[in-house]
Amino acid sequence: MEGGSYSPDLERMIGEQLKERGINDERLLDAFRANPRHLFVPKDQKSRAYSDRPLPIGEGQTISQPYIVALMTDLLRVGPGDRVLEIGTGSGYQSAILATLGETVYTVEKKGKLQEQAKRIHRSLGLENIGYRTGDGTKGWKEQAPFEKIIGTGSVPEVPDSLINQLKVQGRLVIPAGARRQQRIVLVVKEGDRIRKEKKSYCSFLPLVGDEGWDK
Ligand code: SAH
Repeated sequence: MEGGSYSPDLERMIGEQLKERGINDERLLDAFRANPRHLFVPKDQKSRAYSDRPLPIGEGQTISQPYIVALMTDLLRVGPGDRVLEIGTGSGYQSAILATLGETVYTVEKKGKLQEQAKRIHRSLGLENIGYRTGDGTKGWKEQAPFEKIIGTGSVPEVPDSLINQLKVQGRLVIPAGARRQQRIVLVVKEGDRIRKEKKSYCSFLPLVGDEGWDK
């Protein structure tokens, strides 16, 4: 079986890149075990699939670094009843982790080709609780709103108002916001009428290009 030869690498990734850096939620670690990263990278990147960095997936885009996926998912605190909106499907890796933890994932991607690829991988893993839309996700997904959790996996200059508006009360939103080359992961918690924002780790994400993202 293809997965078999990679499982020591996957376990090492979980130990060295996640646990040793403070990610200890067993449900989250199990979600990483259920979605082996080598399935989400192109053939020519398979040998690097468990390395500690983002990797090219075509169309000028990347699959995020495993630790960053874990960190952002941890901040979101996704539980079994959660409907989650994701902006930037990319390889579909983050969507798969979310779909393993939550009830339903709604994922929006600008590039149709990447989304089709991701969908095929999700099908092969038996993940059926994911809804897909191709288009600009910086305005959210109004028809499916509100959401318990929202995650942006590309950067924005500022947290889009549309995303905050589509968050449920007590909902959590995580997105890298800041400058073009470096951002902070921002956690937004909707506490009734009040919005609490916390700036977390520094990071460097590719841009979300759209109405409430970057111009180009
Ligand atoms: N979550 C992905 C990483 C995404 S990289 C993973 O786990 O692999 C960022 C993605 O956002 C890219 O695929 C890019 O095409 C997409 N993107 C850029 N602008 C966007 C927009 N306005 N709406 C939706 N997706 C966008």
